[in-house]
Amino acid sequence: MTHRTLLQFFHWYTPADGSLWDEVATRAEALAAMGITDVWLPPAYKGAEGSTSVGYDTYDLFDLGEFDQKGSKATKYGDRAAFENACRALETKGVRVIHDVVFNHKMGADEKERVTVRRVNPDDRNDIGSDEFEALAYTRFTFPGRQGAHSKFVWDRQCFSGVDVIEEPDERGVFKLMNQYGEGQWNDEVDQELGNFDYLMGADVEFRNKAVYEELKYWGRWLGEQVPVGGFRLDAAKHIPAWFFRDWVGHMRDTVDPNLFVVAEYWHPDMAALGSYLDLADKQLMLFDVALHHSFHEASKQGESYDISRIFEGSLVAAMPEHAVTLVDNHDTQPLQSLEASVDPWFKPLAYALILLREQGVPCVFYPDLFGASYQDAGDDGGEHTVDMPAIPCLPKLIEARQRFAHGPQTDLFDHFSCVGFVRHGTDDQPGCVVVLSNGAGGEKVADLGTDLAGTSFRDFLGHHDADVTIGEDGKAAFPVNGGSVSVWVRADAM
Ligand code: CA
Repeated sequence: MTHRTLLQFFHWYTPADGSLWDEVATRAEALAAMGITDVWLPPAYKGAEGSTSVGYDTYDLFDLGEFDQKGSKATKYGDRAAFENACRALETKGVRVIHDVVFNHKMGADEKERVTVRRVNPDDRNDIGSDEFEALAYTRFTFPGRQGAHSKFVWDRQCFSGVDVIEEPDERGVFKLMNQYGEGQWNDEVDQELGNFDYLMGADVEFRNKAVYEELKYWGRWLGEQVPVGGFRLDAAKHIPAWFFRDWVGHMRDTVDPNLFVVAEYWHPDMAALGSYLDLADKQLMLFDVALHHSFHEASKQGESYDISRIFEGSLVAAMPEHAVTLVDNHDTQPLQSLEASVDPWFKPLAYALILLREQGVPCVFYPDLFGASYQDAGDDGGEHTVDMPAIPCLPKLIEARQRFAHGPQTDLFDHFSCVGFVRHGTDDQPGCVVVLSNGAGGEKVADLGTDLAGTSFRDFLGHHDADVTIGEDGKAAFPVNGGSVSVWVRADAM
């Protein structure tokens, strides 16, 4: 049995040199050999910023780097041929391709239209003004560079629920587009922050327009005919009505692949909000474990004063393990990004052990943690900063350990504020492991592996600790760990 292990194969500062798709193809074989089963690629379609767009400013879902639009044919990551080649290289090695898609909004409209709007209180989106007036808005998308290839659908003011920029009068803010859908109200079944969080940015997609809804279903089916589709990562779910994904994901599983892996980004640490969205979406989604990520961030900042025995408290993986995708960092949390709450490098081996080797959750590895990254950007202080994200040396071994040793029932040894561990007891034909972590001084955990293993020698698969541990006649042994470190103890004869 292979344990599902995701790799987010990009970060915010992936160089805009058009080479990422080629890099995916080059690394496909090594990733498969390491134990990566699913690769999450960045949005492959054309964003409003063209060849510098990270991909979260959706312009044209049908332009996979194929048409001269927004200043270039290729996207930041390469052209359509390279994208197809990357997807097929992964598929050939048995790795599933997870496609990132932003349905919530569009940007970079081709034409302005005369629209009717009402001003909205940005702090209370249900406070929609009664004054209705005409203005110009960027709501018409005709995709002149594509000329109707793949889809003839033209987006207009009937396809959007709100905008943030109008002209004549020239204003910025949040504006409700008054059209034939929703009687002047926002979409429901969205997050309740700011009253109703339907509107995030750009031209906000109106899912109640049946033609829009059918176009987005058609796009999903179309993508499945162009490239291998193993699943989707759905951006900005808290701004998209749950009923849409309830239908869309079901439709994709009916038409593209019944086993699609679908994870939605609902960036909220509160289990009640996540649970309610999952219920509304008929539990067809996985969600990222935001709360656990925040705990990793806190633990890495607080050092030994953080009570690591409580690190899973309040997490999605504890509350709803079958719906949790666990992560350490991502493109939004890395240094200098919008949700910056990065995990300091010293703690990352511990955090990755806590997501890769446990029974619960589907872990997602972040590209810079595996391969390193270095970049420059402006910080909140306005100054230019250089960031080095070092590759975590033991991460390939932890990924390998997940496939080789993270098997069988789990016993938790979370009984100390700075030294915890857990045992994977193995199965009849696959070995287990004893994982010991310390965020303070060195320590040890006594584990009971059963008298069948009496006299068996164990070694640290990561090589962080050089002891040989031999199981006693009573089936028990003390497994050590260095300070601020993690050790993964496995049978010496299984190494
Ligand atoms: Ca929305």
